[in-house]
Amino acid sequence: MASKEFRERIKKALGNASLRGALERFADSYVVAREQVYAGRDFQALRERIAAIKADAANRYGELADEFARAVEARGGKVFRAQDPASAREYIYQVAREHGVTDVVKSKSFASEEIHLNEYLEERGIHPHETDLAEWILQLMPGERPSHMVMPAIHLPKEEVARVFSRYLGEPVKPDIAQMVRIARRELRKKFLSAGMGISGANIAVAETGTIVICTNEGNARLTTTVPPVHVAIVGYEKLVPRMQDVVPILEALPRSGTAQPATSYVTMITGPVPAWLGDREGPKELHVVLLDNGRTAMAADPIFKEALQCIRCASCTNVCPVFQLVSGQVYGYIYSGGIGSILTSFFNSLEDAADPQSLCLGCRRCAEVCPANINIPDLILKLREKVVAKQGLPATYRIVLHGVVAKPKLMHGLLRTAARLQGPVTHGQPFIRHLPLFFSPLAHGRSLPAIARQPLRDRAKQLERPVENPRLRAAFYSGCVIDFAYPEIGEAVYQVLGREGVEVVFPQGQACCGAPATYSGDRETAVKLAKINIAALEAAQAEVVVTACPTCAVALKEDFPKLLAGNLAWEKRAQALAAKVKDFTQLVSELTAQAGRILSAPAAAGGPTPASPAACREPIRVTYHDSCHFKRHLGLDQVARQVLRDQPGVELVEMKESDRCCGFGGSYSIKYPEISLPILERKLKNIMDSGAQVVATDCPGCVLQLRGGLDQRHSPLQVKHTAEILAARLGANPKDRT
Ligand code: SF4
Ligand code: SF4
Repeated sequence: MASKEFRERIKKALGNASLRGALERFADSYVVAREQVYAGRDFQALRERIAAIKADAANRYGELADEFARAVEARGGKVFRAQDPASAREYIYQVAREHGVTDVVKSKSFASEEIHLNEYLEERGIHPHETDLAEWILQLMPGERPSHMVMPAIHLPKEEVARVFSRYLGEPVKPDIAQMVRIARRELRKKFLSAGMGISGANIAVAETGTIVICTNEGNARLTTTVPPVHVAIVGYEKLVPRMQDVVPILEALPRSGTAQPATSYVTMITGPVPAWLGDREGPKELHVVLLDNGRTAMAADPIFKEALQCIRCASCTNVCPVFQLVSGQVYGYIYSGGIGSILTSFFNSLEDAADPQSLCLGCRRCAEVCPANINIPDLILKLREKVVAKQGLPATYRIVLHGVVAKPKLMHGLLRTAARLQGPVTHGQPFIRHLPLFFSPLAHGRSLPAIARQPLRDRAKQLERPVENPRLRAAFYSGCVIDFAYPEIGEAVYQVLGREGVEVVFPQGQACCGAPATYSGDRETAVKLAKINIAALEAAQAEVVVTACPTCAVALKEDFPKLLAGNLAWEKRAQALAAKVKDFTQLVSELTAQAGRILSAPAAAGGPTPASPAACREPIRVTYHDSCHFKRHLGLDQVARQVLRDQPGVELVEMKESDRCCGFGGSYSIKYPEISLPILERKLKNIMDSGAQVVATDCPGCVLQLRGGLDQRHSPLQVKHTAEILAARLGANPKDRT
């Protein structure tokens, strides 16, 4: 459970309309601009190249650091290797003291913030002045925190900045951006000219030449590193690359992914001390490079987490993250924010410090799609979550639910059956639970919950299993809990459509929860237990294919089980054999119809139902498609589903805006963080309603639950259907409609 203080920060951020507005406006334009600026480029090839360069560097930081230091020192610079923040701070302070420095200018540097340099110098009588415009504004606002990695003051409206400038200058300043930029330039110029030392970070450090590369859009790093007589660059080990040619792909990706620009305005390359004006004569400048470790070499030695060192700090992952867009970098609490920030914090700070920030990830995988360093951020966050749980244990409620109920299928199914019998007072005979009593009430805020099915799919399966003459194949249906106990009609639709295609479908009664709630909560123990139960149950069905209509279950069966059981030779082999058989329902339909050389609604294969009312089945409907995160980003089936729907006579497919943006469900996330889940749902519902469609199709029962519940509370006539239900209806075999 997130700490009280963390929840307070979330509440504050969500209540800040200007913060949310600014982040959302930027995110909207960023997505379009990013696509344009990468147009015609092979993004996949580019990110694989960057990942290879950075992964290779991470394998040999020691060697590269030696080479880098030799190259810098050969040109007259000095290199100090700092193990931790304390030694880095002290070294920089001593350099400043030796030169009698009282004022320091700084260009933007995460590493300097990581070591809390400003406070340290200030306490010792040395005044650091930030020269990046946004950083300077924040410095003038004590207590204010950066909201974004690349644009730290994006949340501040110009009126607020004008007030800050007025206070600083002691005279009124109008909220006119051009005028305020002129003021900043004038004031900062004075600092550059009077400072005794310039402190910068670096975007890249080239081992073979000892070059540091700094990218800015304001040119302030160029002044910081050239005007004062002493330059100190603080460089994390992860900035090292072996050769000068390795700089090229990073410079190609950094501005494109960061701010959707084709190039950064100022790219400064410094190789050794540059000539400087020393007040009365020209002389060599003093150059110090502080190579900062602070957990980086430990991270590089970790076979899982070293991947995060590939990060080039472009912030693209946060620009597309639906959670970050709501809460901003201010909530994460440490220097590095967003999903990648949680991972870095766990090494640069501590695992405890990363515990709350990592819990914000709802696993939508949008970040992994855009990361130019090819980092699988959501998977790393899950690994981090496992580490947090291993150290701190599961929160009590999770432990009770996961260990005590979900891990015991018979008990869980029994409880659900009992709840179905007793739910009358909260469902009032309706398919939705719209209100819940007492402390359960927040669960039904802003989104109705589905009533528990009176008869779960597993109890209906025997009636649905009809003999198919000469079946094309035998499929074991893995329904998952949501279809089984909330939407058995989706399961019936699966039976009907596949039956129509000549598939013999069986329901293995031993199947249990796929374990996703445990996996996404960091509860490996329960996830492993459920993986074994399901493997045994599905093997017993002796089917050629295991079909599921839930992409989260498909990912669990195909990807998670083999990973969970890796190292246990017998089980790993069984998990892999199962994984090879797993197919999503819509994918299977697409393959079967393609094999038969016809579309689904064409004359039936043997054993299928006869259309009840062919005319009604072909009544025109306008459908918009919502991409479930797992269906699109894990299974890659988004276009397959659209094609299957388009093939249906009478179906008009219209695209909604941001069709692949998460609906905010995220399994237990919508219960854990309803205050975040609901605004994400709100945006999705607006896009759906604006599409002009009558029906929303999706391939995920979890998304069906979230979207139906959201539309129900808004009294919308729009229907939400699983693709299986639409197909069954087009065949005239529509199962009972609950929407
Ligand atoms: S994780 Fe990837 S997308 Fe995020 S800041 Fe790093 S390089 Fe950019
Ligand atoms: S998976 Fe989604 S929620 Fe998690 S960090 Fe990535 S973009 Fe954000």
